Amino acid sequence: MAKYVFVTGGVLSGLGKGITTASIGLLLKSMGISVTAVKVDPYVNVDAGTMNPYMHGEVFVTEDGGETDLDLGHYERFLGVDLSKDHNITTGKVYLKVITKERMGEYLGQTVQIIPHVTDEIKSEIRGLAKRESADVVLVEVGGTVGDIEGLPFLEAARQMRLEEGPTSVLFVHVVLVPRLSTTGEFKTKPAQHSFQELRRIGIQPDVIVARSEKPVSPEVKEKLALFGNVAADEIVNSYDIDPVYDVPRVLAEQGLDRVLARKLGLEHRPPDLGGWLEFVERYRRVSRTATVAMVGKYTSLRDSYLSIIEALKHAGAHLGLRPRLVWVESTDVELGKLDPEGIADSVDGAVILPGFGARGAEGKIATIRALRERGRPVLGICFGLQLMLVEFARNVLGLGRAHTTEVDPNTPHPVVDLLEEQKSVEAKGGSMRLGALPIRVLRGTLAHRIYGTEVVYERHRHRYHVNPKYLDRFESSGYRVSGVSPEGYVEIMELASHRFYYGTQAHPEFRSRPLRPSPVFLEFLRVLQRD
Ligand code: GLN
Repeated sequence: MAKYVFVTGGVLSGLGKGITTASIGLLLKSMGISVTAVKVDPYVNVDAGTMNPYMHGEVFVTEDGGETDLDLGHYERFLGVDLSKDHNITTGKVYLKVITKERMGEYLGQTVQIIPHVTDEIKSEIRGLAKRESADVVLVEVGGTVGDIEGLPFLEAARQMRLEEGPTSVLFVHVVLVPRLSTTGEFKTKPAQHSFQELRRIGIQPDVIVARSEKPVSPEVKEKLALFGNVAADEIVNSYDIDPVYDVPRVLAEQGLDRVLARKLGLEHRPPDLGGWLEFVERYRRVSRTATVAMVGKYTSLRDSYLSIIEALKHAGAHLGLRPRLVWVESTDVELGKLDPEGIADSVDGAVILPGFGARGAEGKIATIRALRERGRPVLGICFGLQLMLVEFARNVLGLGRAHTTEVDPNTPHPVVDLLEEQKSVEAKGGSMRLGALPIRVLRGTLAHRIYGTEVVYERHRHRYHVNPKYLDRFESSGYRVSGVSPEGYVEIMELASHRFYYGTQAHPEFRSRPLRPSPVFLEFLRVLQRD
């Protein structure tokens, strides 16, 4: 029978609950316990795919094509596993199920209510997943902040599960912010106290408290939090800001969280073996060189929009002993003349052209790509990045004036990037792109083949548009070659033979990158920068 650890958050959102959940998972895993993790998101969207990254950060794409919350990325990276879309439960998903059942007559004669019907559905989703995965422990992170109206049915379901499964089978971990006043340097526990009260009002007493703070808190602060939180002294741990976040499991283990978890869950305690993980953290810190990487996109004011790409650069960097220093290039600022693409291209070692959707900022990206290409800078284009690299090349090298992707200019005379044929009949916007891990055939004798070292690779996708095959001859005769194709014949990878690294990929290699297994694409990109 699986055991469950619910992770809730108090005071405010963005506390790093995802990192805390992933770190607890890694600690348990390092004790020889099998774990999996689920993210509950109380919003009414069925999945994160229809949200702007500004709202919610990056959409993390799973192997099976789920468009999920970015916390799934943390779980995959920390736990070294591939998760499916079932690991993200939203209010939208739960209500859709309940309402569909109601329409099918499954509740015939009853009044369908939040309690018990919605809460039952939540519990059955979580239990169903536990059963399918046969994990010893299922971590359930509840998004949002305790006290949010939207989160209540999920917390109520968690409360009921504790009652039904017993206290050693369901644990509550509450993550709270402990702010520090800059004037006096004093840590304040009052917001946390209010959050404990709110949680108790819902009927939940935390078993473990994780105090999030900027700097380590004193033992007195911990004592005070333990008293108000109604937990024993060792049941409160402090998770202070640390770089990299991959060091959080060690910070928690040093305070004995592994022992507390084992004790409270009635599991045998074995000292966690973090071996290779700690070596990765050490390598990350021991880097000897830096390389400046321009990050060209239009959601740059919320860094979480590109989280997996940032992490993939860190993984590859640590592996090579290189620290990528990221310079954010907001492409809409390039359009407004606030940023000068030539100046940017002159001052950076390389660039990532970031994924994206829609017209805003596209011209700014294209102008930046031109400057980078003309200076021979190493460029990695991801998805929309690849597409706009081709648009730029078509306009400025092939002489195809006003060439564009039909996503931005439906009336372009030269649609070098166009809607996938299979997408032309698709009307629904939710979960309807070309999604998930799909095979790519890598052509021998190309940079792509050097990168992957094999002929068939899988990467995760999320797109509706692709390189228009009608223009391929023209690209190829100018040295822009196709080096990866899908089984249907779609262009997957293109590279400029005349450059050391001018590489665009329709897929998103960042989603498969792990601390101990960096993406070969990011590795090669940084390797080229390192050699320069
Ligand atoms: N908007 C482009 C498409 O749909 C690129 C998508 C992306 O960058 N993820 O094809």
